Amino acid sequence: MKIKFIKITLFLAMFFTVFVSCSSNEDAEVETEPDVTDDAITELPAAFAAFNSDAVTVTLSDDGTEIYLETTGYPNHTSIYWETDHELYLDESDYVTKTTENTYIGGGTGEASSFTVDSTPNLNGATVDTELNTIGIAVSGAAIFNDQEGMGDLDQAAGSLDYNGAHKGPGVYHYHLEPRSISNDDDELVGILMDGIFLYGRKDYPSNDYPTDLDASGGHFGPTPYNEDGEYHYHIINEEYNAPLYGYDEAVVLFAGPFQGY
Ligand SMILES: [Zn+2]
Ligand SMILES: [Zn+2]
Repeated sequence: MKIKFIKITLFLAMFFTVFVSCSSNEDAEVETEPDVTDDAITELPAAFAAFNSDAVTVTLSDDGTEIYLETTGYPNHTSIYWETDHELYLDESDYVTKTTENTYIGGGTGEASSFTVDSTPNLNGATVDTELNTIGIAVSGAAIFNDQEGMGDLDQAAGSLDYNGAHKGPGVYHYHLEPRSISNDDDELVGILMDGIFLYGRKDYPSNDYPTDLDASGGHFGPTPYNEDGEYHYHIINEEYNAPLYGYDEAVVLFAGPFQGY
């Protein structure tokens, strides 16, 4: 009697195992169907509504996998780097020593730029170091640079940075520090980097506290003012940059890398 019971139990166990194996195989087959639309999106992320449309043009590719960005490179805020008769010119000469006296926004070459980003950043790849050039476009339309300066180091160039932590040599006007006309110690959208990831201010949304779970790039997963469901995004890391030559009170580096979205 006891032996028969064990045999039946064993049979049932085997039957169940075979049955489960078969059904999981079927599931696996369904999942291996090719899914070409995996990385495609059907409309532009809502955050692009914040960009200065006089400077920035944003287009989604026909297949929804890439986003094309084009900008004049001209910001929609005041600076000493505008020509003195421009309506956005601001005399900051008490705080700022211009890189070159006769340089001004719109008076250089290579100020307009364009780049293509994946509509779905690849967060599983390796990190990639940023370069000494445009690494992103701010909502103002101007270029985002990292914490390095082409001619010598940023510490020495800090005296030429304006209220928005930006300056202009012969090339494009660009930010190295927190651009306070865009985000001033808050959770505002600052721009998009070339790896397709959005960069926000020092504070998190919706808590309005400094995030405490950031990775080396200032990134983490969570809700943003434009995506309540949450997505991976960068923040300006809330760390004062000691730059004695900077003319204004507080300097905070905008983005020092590395990229996480390639
Ligand atoms: Zn620079
Ligand atoms: Zn956040």
